[in-house]
Amino acid sequence: MTDIAGNIKYLRSQLPSSVKLVAVSKTKPVSDIMEAYNAGQRCFGENRVPELLNKTDLLPKDIEWHFIGHLQSNKVKSLVPFVDMIQSVDSFKLLQVINSEALKSGKIVDCLIQIHIATEETKSGFSIQELNEGFKTDTLNLKNIRICGVMGMATYTSDTKKIQAEFIYLRDCFHSLKEKYFKSELHFNEISMGMSGDYKLAVNEGSTMVRIGSLIFGER
Ligand SMILES: *Cc1c(COP(=O)(O)O)cnc(C)c1O
Repeated sequence: MTDIAGNIKYLRSQLPSSVKLVAVSKTKPVSDIMEAYNAGQRCFGENRVPELLNKTDLLPKDIEWHFIGHLQSNKVKSLVPFVDMIQSVDSFKLLQVINSEALKSGKIVDCLIQIHIATEETKSGFSIQELNEGFKTDTLNLKNIRICGVMGMATYTSDTKKIQAEFIYLRDCFHSLKEKYFKSELHFNEISMGMSGDYKLAVNEGSTMVRIGSLIFGER
């Protein structure tokens, strides 16, 4: 049996207190999430909209929900009322749609810009060139979203040098975007990187938020 509470306790002891732990609960039952909740965990990540909606309905209301999967525009409307942060924004169109649905819901949605840092083409995210073009041509007059930083997923490999280089690249992207477009925005301060297999490397390279699933809940 997986010792969920013990795993969370262990991870907290390993992470600097300034690094936020997002417990990735995708595919796991609400009973597992309650075990983590009872161990003090309040922030959870999901990658499918119907699953997140089902879980928000069944679980305590003080949970902070992060969406971390590829998001289709037509799902934004149902997601927005229940989500606290969307970490996986991978197009300017999606930013616009989230903004207009947030406006309708009367809320401000925190977002991270997902940047493609891995070799695998299957992983989504902006290139830094796309971001520089998009941010140059206004777009940032989106009053119902707050862009809080960047998110990235490293290549799935045992080559730690490669993973480290990708995390360094993401950190450099963060600093360059902050300098160019978010200099006066105090909330632009998150670098979400690091999962079960690579969170230590990520923390060493300046991660402020790790997204950990299998090390907490066991293999999926
Ligand atoms: C599934 C997932 C994670 C967590 O993966 P683990 O290896 O189980 O820790 C983190 N981030 C994203 C975007 C994911 O889809």
